[in-house]
Amino acid sequence: IFTKKDASATEAKGWKEGEPVPYAALVATFEKIEATTKRLEILQILTQFLLVVAKRDTATDAKSSNLLKVVYLCINRLCPDYMGIELGIGESLLVKSIAESTGRAMSKIKEDLRKEGDLGKVAMNSRNNQPTMFKPKALTVPYVFQSLTEIAKASGNASQNKKVGIINKLLAACQGTEAKFIVRSLEGKLRIGLADKTLVVALAHAMVLKGLGDKRIGGEEVAKKLEEGAEIVKSIYSELPNYDLIIPALMKGGIEGLQENCKLTPGVPLKPMLAKPTKAITEVLDRFEGKEFTCEYKYDGERAQVHLLEDGTIAVFSRNSENMSAKYPDLVEQLPRCIKEGVKSFVIDAEAVAYDLEQKKLLPFQDLSRRKRKDVRTEDITVRVHLFAFDLLYLNGESLLQKELKERRSLLQKHFQPIPSEFAFAVSSDCTTTEEIQSFLEESVKDGCEGLMVKMLTTQSSTYEPSRRSINWLKLKKDYLSGIGDSLDLVVIGAYYGKGKRTSVYGAFLLSCYDPDSENYQTICKIGTGFSEEILIKFHELLKPLELQVVRGDIEVGGAKPDVWFEPKIVWEVLTADLSLSPVYTAAHGLVDSRGISLRFPRFIRIREDKSSDEATTSEQVSEFYQRQVTAGGKKNVGGEGD
Ligand code: ATP
Repeated sequence: IFTKKDASATEAKGWKEGEPVPYAALVATFEKIEATTKRLEILQILTQFLLVVAKRDTATDAKSSNLLKVVYLCINRLCPDYMGIELGIGESLLVKSIAESTGRAMSKIKEDLRKEGDLGKVAMNSRNNQPTMFKPKALTVPYVFQSLTEIAKASGNASQNKKVGIINKLLAACQGTEAKFIVRSLEGKLRIGLADKTLVVALAHAMVLKGLGDKRIGGEEVAKKLEEGAEIVKSIYSELPNYDLIIPALMKGGIEGLQENCKLTPGVPLKPMLAKPTKAITEVLDRFEGKEFTCEYKYDGERAQVHLLEDGTIAVFSRNSENMSAKYPDLVEQLPRCIKEGVKSFVIDAEAVAYDLEQKKLLPFQDLSRRKRKDVRTEDITVRVHLFAFDLLYLNGESLLQKELKERRSLLQKHFQPIPSEFAFAVSSDCTTTEEIQSFLEESVKDGCEGLMVKMLTTQSSTYEPSRRSINWLKLKKDYLSGIGDSLDLVVIGAYYGKGKRTSVYGAFLLSCYDPDSENYQTICKIGTGFSEEILIKFHELLKPLELQVVRGDIEVGGAKPDVWFEPKIVWEVLTADLSLSPVYTAAHGLVDSRGISLRFPRFIRIREDKSSDEATTSEQVSEFYQRQVTAGGKKNVGGEGD
């Protein structure tokens, strides 16, 4: 897949076996990736680089592995998600650091930022125009990684100064275009259009090629091996999303050894399986009729993946793999009561729901969101939670992901026992007709649920698919059936000043969806009606600190013209009557039409604190909503009013 010229160009930049990877070599790769939008080309550039790194990396443990650090810097992370060490330094602190380390005034840096729109480039230009007496010592990948980790971990009173100190040191050592990527890493995003899934495949390909060494085999055979390798690494990564474990295993035993050594492990949360929305019961039957399926109550709480480790530790993880054990000390305390004898380790998928102990009834999500997220003491808890388990993914040393749901469900019921007001299995009914589903849906709502989850029960289609939004799980939300079938989770990226009484706050907001392939946010609608004065004041307080000097380069603006732009951080759940093609907004442009798609009559529901901005509704989901609406005979009008 490479020409000789390509390979030698990378080699020439080189460093010797066992030496730390020069940061300049990684940056050269970033530059190449940034210069193209072609997926395949990005994959090849990255594969080639990872191959060189892997060949020269002599370490087989996580701590000293260069390959591991390169991989983390490529996805701009420092550790597995669930360990919660994150980058994302605010604009003002970075402006201060750039000014200090390059000897320029902060006002000049801000002025450049307004013109350039990319703090990374501003840092690079400032650095390159700075006269320097000595050539600084070249940065290495381990040094940059270590510095970023220290910055992300710094906390407490003096942490701001500490962070600025480390950033200054890093910037002072930057050469060429390095400062651009250091600053972007610190901001929390590289903006080179490198999707996480491309990295997994590139890593797999690099390891396959490393394994082949100088062996000469036919092109077709290589292609087959690459494809198989990618499937293996993708599937292992979805079970065990932890490069600290996967990369040393790959370095030791190659792809072949990976399946042996890396498996779903209690203590490492896997990305949950997700469902596709439906807007009518008939849609459910279109998909499932004639197959064995089950309907379960769709509880209105928070996803909880509960792990029991061999050493007896119980850990609760959220939908986005955050460790919530400190938020739910009561759950951790309750759980041992529902485990039957003989269970030594498990992973269950469940929903934690707020519960009224006196009236013995479920409370809506709003009540659950009143719970503190950190440092909760059991004695201070006012909102009780009830756990509803709906899946068993691992039991006593064995992964159950490949088993049929019917079997997983029966193992769940066999090894756990319901405890009144604490733990139960999701109520389910193996309905088969429209009438049965309809009446079960009514029942679920009467019992305080949002609707139903409909799941394939047998065959290969009923395995657990981590991190997939699968067609084998459908959600049927009662309240949303009249709209497009589901709500959307959108990122607030801009605002419009209010008029009249609302001049001191924002009166309307610009929302966007997320495109994971390009890593860009795409505008989707302006939302301004239905907010109380009180809530507008609250939103102003929340969003004001996120105001930016200039729109970020990863926002596909289209024709939207808000008065202020924000850092894309806050996610709102929003309802819409329907979707329309729009000459103004950019959401999902190019997927169903060259125009974008926008929401008609959007309505704010709530803030999604459990979702980060890159977990917002994707462009592909927006296009799916639109297409389903068109096939269902919906309107196809051009909208995009507001701007
Ligand atoms: P999505 O997870 O699809 O992005 P979301 O986070 O907004 O969307 P919902 O649309 O409400 O969540 O639907 C999926 C969620 O429903 C699951 O993540 C889970 O938390 C919850 N849930 C409640 N009951 C069940 C059940 N029986 N089976 C699976 N999930 C359930």
